[in-house]
Amino acid sequence: NDTPNDLAAFWMPFTDNAYFKAHPRMLVAAEGMHYTAADGHSVLDATGGLWCVNAGHCRPQIVEAIRQTAGRVDFAPTFQLGHPLAFEAASRLAMLMPQGLDKIFFTNSGSESVDTALKIALAYQKARGQAGRTRLIGRERAYHGVNFGGISVGGIVGNRRPYATLLPGVDHLRHTHDPARNAFSRGLPQHGAELADDLERLVALHGAETIAAVIVEPVAGSTGVLIPPVGYLQRLREICTKHDILLIFDEVITAFGRVGKATAAERFGVTPDLITMAKGLTNAAVPMGAVAVSRHVHDTIEGSGPDGIHLFHGYTYSGHPLASAAAIATLDLYVTEGLFEKAIELEDYWADAVHSLKGARHVIDCRNIGLIGGIELEPRPGAPTMRAMDVFRRAFDEGLLIRTTGDIIALSPPLILEKSHIDRIFGKLAEILAAVD
Ligand code: PMP
Repeated sequence: NDTPNDLAAFWMPFTDNAYFKAHPRMLVAAEGMHYTAADGHSVLDATGGLWCVNAGHCRPQIVEAIRQTAGRVDFAPTFQLGHPLAFEAASRLAMLMPQGLDKIFFTNSGSESVDTALKIALAYQKARGQAGRTRLIGRERAYHGVNFGGISVGGIVGNRRPYATLLPGVDHLRHTHDPARNAFSRGLPQHGAELADDLERLVALHGAETIAAVIVEPVAGSTGVLIPPVGYLQRLREICTKHDILLIFDEVITAFGRVGKATAAERFGVTPDLITMAKGLTNAAVPMGAVAVSRHVHDTIEGSGPDGIHLFHGYTYSGHPLASAAAIATLDLYVTEGLFEKAIELEDYWADAVHSLKGARHVIDCRNIGLIGGIELEPRPGAPTMRAMDVFRRAFDEGLLIRTTGDIIALSPPLILEKSHIDRIFGKLAEILAAVD
């Protein structure tokens, strides 16, 4: 039995921690589409770990790359020195980015990528003589990690509330989720592109000359699978371009095939100025994040002159050898196995399965894009989130791992899944929804 006798030392301040400690569900091994729980039962992973294991668990190519690198060069700084794996990983990643976003800065997580991108945006404005452009714009119901920049631009009020000092000069666009007009949309919701005009409201309020950047998740994942209405991201891009405001896509969830292309930028045909990533970059086998930066932004900061140190930024572990090796092996796998194309091929079958739950007990909305699914449940009166938690616990005990956020079931399976897995996921969910109060 791999369950530790003492769970007291480990701390992660989330609300269901007490429940977990009373009923620990431990994952002790993983392979392909499955985890093994501590009691030995196999669990089909319909969440890709945490939106991150896109190529399936413990892929031998990735494991081997990490193992070999660990025995050869455990660590090498990328500050004043370098090692070839970091450069190779950057080139490989740049090849998957939209044209022009070919400068790669490595971080260790999604939260670090977000704060890095915000600093780059502010440094860029200063370097081009627009020091007054200090305002940042996020969006309601957005999640951008837990660092100070990320919670400032993030749209989760409760995550900001405990802190008196956050980034100053931040506004939030209205969120795009409109169940009254878009319930049970298949793929992109038809209504709501005009919500991007909310940016014009903020420009009129503050003046374009005060705004540095807008950051959005193309598809908001952690806050409940919120899919942009047709034309919304295009309109946001147009408004940013018109007012010379940088556009940042936070693709920590959407990158690496999750929406059927390397990036959501590619899927939606909208090119931002910066893209933040993490998770699927290394298939989550070791921590790594990245920011892809447009050549123009990069060159402006780099060329800003001797007294223009606008950006001093870098982590000890930026481009860590193990992470770089894992990234190279992962990006290779995505390409050689055609996993992004596979996600597109499966998208219709997946969409049918997601929407098969329309009419199931408690279900008030189903949403899908790429291999992402959101199933929203009507909250139990007086006990929000508990119905979804009941589904989660029951699913786990019966061999299916899902993720819940509020009363929304969020699904993002590894892209290696087969139709038979899809049948199992939704067959099991239908059964559980019928049984849960
Ligand atoms: N941005 C987005 C869009 C995310 O979904 C997440 C994590 N779910 C983050 C940032 C933060 O990433 P991390 O947990 O790796 O810091």
